[in-house]
Amino acid sequence: MKGRIVVVKEYGKPFDIEEYDVPEPERGAVLLRMTQAGVCGSDLHTWRGDQTQEFMPLPPTGRAMGHEGTGVVEVLGDGVTTDTLGTPIKEGDRVMYSAVFPCHRCHLCLRGDTNWCANREYPTAGVWPYFTGTYADFLYLPPRHAFFRVPDELPDEILGPVNCALGTVTTGLQRAGLGEGEYVVIQGAGGLGLNAVAMAKDMGAHRVIVLDRLENRLQLAEEFGADYTINIEEFNTPETRIRRVWELTNGRGADVVMELVGRAELMAEGIDMLSNGGTFVEIGDIVRGREVSIDPSKLLSGKSILGSRMYRASLLPTLLDYLVRNQHKVPFHKIVSHKYPLAEVNEAFAKSEWSQSQTEVTRAMLVP
Ligand SMILES: [Zn+2]
Ligand SMILES: [Zn+2]
Repeated sequence: MKGRIVVVKEYGKPFDIEEYDVPEPERGAVLLRMTQAGVCGSDLHTWRGDQTQEFMPLPPTGRAMGHEGTGVVEVLGDGVTTDTLGTPIKEGDRVMYSAVFPCHRCHLCLRGDTNWCANREYPTAGVWPYFTGTYADFLYLPPRHAFFRVPDELPDEILGPVNCALGTVTTGLQRAGLGEGEYVVIQGAGGLGLNAVAMAKDMGAHRVIVLDRLENRLQLAEEFGADYTINIEEFNTPETRIRRVWELTNGRGADVVMELVGRAELMAEGIDMLSNGGTFVEIGDIVRGREVSIDPSKLLSGKSILGSRMYRASLLPTLLDYLVRNQHKVPFHKIVSHKYPLAEVNEAFAKSEWSQSQTEVTRAMLVP
């Protein structure tokens, strides 16, 4: 049996679709059949050509694309009878897998910080077991890789963004120490931003303020619980945006500002939105080689800058519980606005592009 997988061979060029033999899972491994895979902002950077060969060289065979998504168990390797929490699992069950594939052989993995693994590598295309990206018919989970059976009460429509967007922003808010009654600013109302709004409210934020350029996204942010939105076409300078945030926080500034756009200059802007003691969380700037200048004296009043990437696998069951608890309060099903067949992967990316254009897409899913 063969399956398809999407590969990037050259930055800024259309993706290729390649076919490989579907592997038999080794003992302890699991083969998933992908049911949906998200077009994440980080994938858009690759497609757009923001990544360069200088800072992130591509292997000659290319890289397997996609990390966010869900699937169902196609084949369980010998010895696998439960998920990572001991819940019985069988073929056909829906699964949330960890989108972090750590080495388990470094000091960071040893202490549990698998999302900061020192040997992290993007999956090379064309190497067994071939199905190492989620824009594919199948995904191979190596032995002991964390995965969890999805609770029956959760609909498929809300599962797609859980293991990148939701996990990443939740970890960022937790690491910032977001507490009851605090003020939060979210820069960017895409798939990550919408999840960040709802999670910040669930964690007790008193006021959540969201900035974006696209009015449809800002309206959705309000449906997800944003108390105020700022359209940056209207507030079109950093100074006016900073002043607006100070007004909306009753003159005290934000406790947490989270960057989910991927523009380096937003760090300088976000630091000026913070209250003394506040934390700026950098998540969106995944492209290497970009720079921003900041005035370090502004940090002396207790302001922090922290970077955050992905999550520990132990967070995923908590997120599934969060969705069960909130699925009738928050319109999670509206995050995924468009679905495309895998064969139309390049069109899905063109439609999702927001950097120079308007788009109706908040999150696109590829459906094999
Ligand atoms: Zn992602
Ligand atoms: Zn590691």
